[in-house]
Amino acid sequence: MDSIQTFAELGLSADILSGLTKKGFVSPTPIQAQTIPLLLNGERDIIGQAQTGTGKTAAFGLPIIERITPGLRKVQAIVLAPTRELANQVCEELDSLKGNRNITILPVYGGQGMATQLKALKQGVDIVVATPGRAIDHLERKTLKLNDVKFVVLDEADEMLNMGFVEDIEHILTHVPEQRRMLLFSATMPGPILKLAQKFMGDFDEVKVATKQQSATTVEQVFYEIYEKDKLRALHRLIETEPEFYALVFCRTRVGADRLAGKLSDIGFDVEALHGDVTQVQRERILAKFKGGHATILVATDVAARGIDINNLSHVINFDMPDSPEAYVHRIGRTGRAGKTGKAISFVAPGEWRKLQLVQQVTKADVKRGRLPWGEEVIELKRNSMKERVFAAAEGETLQEFYDLAADILNSGKPKQLLASLLQLHFGGHLNANAYPEIREPERQGGFKSRHSLERHGGPRPAAGAGRSEKGGYYDHRERPSSNGKFSSKPFFKKKKFA
Ligand code: ADP
Ligand code: MG
Repeated sequence: MDSIQTFAELGLSADILSGLTKKGFVSPTPIQAQTIPLLLNGERDIIGQAQTGTGKTAAFGLPIIERITPGLRKVQAIVLAPTRELANQVCEELDSLKGNRNITILPVYGGQGMATQLKALKQGVDIVVATPGRAIDHLERKTLKLNDVKFVVLDEADEMLNMGFVEDIEHILTHVPEQRRMLLFSATMPGPILKLAQKFMGDFDEVKVATKQQSATTVEQVFYEIYEKDKLRALHRLIETEPEFYALVFCRTRVGADRLAGKLSDIGFDVEALHGDVTQVQRERILAKFKGGHATILVATDVAARGIDINNLSHVINFDMPDSPEAYVHRIGRTGRAGKTGKAISFVAPGEWRKLQLVQQVTKADVKRGRLPWGEEVIELKRNSMKERVFAAAEGETLQEFYDLAADILNSGKPKQLLASLLQLHFGGHLNANAYPEIREPERQGGFKSRHSLERHGGPRPAAGAGRSEKGGYYDHRERPSSNGKFSSKPFFKKKKFA
């Protein structure tokens, strides 16, 4: 492991360092610590792999900003991104990293006024962040010249190559000098994609930041094993009982996402759905609404959620389990960013058990079994959550007008009754334990588990070791301890055919 701890030690110059301090970056993330020195000093190509939200943009952006010539107004670096949204995000991030340097950065993507782009390109820019299609448009019109390019970056490279941009990229590269440096950055780099990528690469260094190291520290991972038909009720319960809920909820299909958003909205939550059928205009409106906190739940499919950069998510919910461990990593990377903690919650229906097992094997993640609260427990949690929200609100600023109104209302002399009505008005719902019956766990074929052994995550453990692997994660019949081992197979293990 690299022992480098500060940006200064990576070899960045003073003006850039002061910019980083202003931006609030305290220390480099692992991918930054490992790639920045290579890029500042060496000449080799690089493949950088680290989870979403780990600062890959700055990992390639800072050294590029250091190494290009300010004020040249010739394209010296081109960053290719799969979507216009990502191109925009990268552009904004690079812009915020350049400090006082005289460097112009231009986003170039379809759907954006051609005239503006032409004008900016004509005046000259130093870095272009583009989607492949629009880059090719400009190359064909000869309005984009790449003969001075020193760096070509493929951001979200796995996605780009997956989405069939290979030919586009090859075409763009024919316009770039041979001695350019190729930089590929992405969250994953599956074997076949790496093979494809090697077509573009010269001698390259591979920098890989293990998933576990990052996700374990900042994202608490929990799963609930429930029937498909109980998922909505379970989600409803979590929304009501978790102290904070600002979440991305993943569904497998567009239809599923729409349906779930509709149901949550019927219940009264501020929810939006994002999927492939949503137009670009709607998409931007929805994201703005969600980012602004006017919607607190965003239901999305994997494809639609690609690359959206939303910070401060309290939860990522796998309403449906993702199809691959890579998708799981992508999804949960949306919470717990940049030092904040978050929670990733997976609903696992009987048909999805294998998917969870695969996630655990591949990511080595410690996904803890959670138990859904019911009855009085829900009421207790709901009360705490309401209290926390009220107290947190009181910490913030309250306008003088509301103080005046409060004083006025309190003059009636019935403070308790008034506060009670206000709470009911604001939080709605009820505090009736009977409305929250137990949500039962399915029996799993070959699964050695019993309801007695379950615990609510973080809570005390009613029966030590029962039905759990020693690593403290999950049930797996292949790991079943022998009958003379320290776990007893009775009465905690029940073997029953799944009906
Ligand atoms: P990735 O491309 O790996 O998904 P981004 O480059 O989009 O990640 O960065 C995610 C967020 O983390 C951005 O808001 C970025 O400003 C922030 N960030 C990046 N590096 C640091 C750092 N060293 N310290 C604090 N925040 C950082
Ligand atoms: Mg990125």
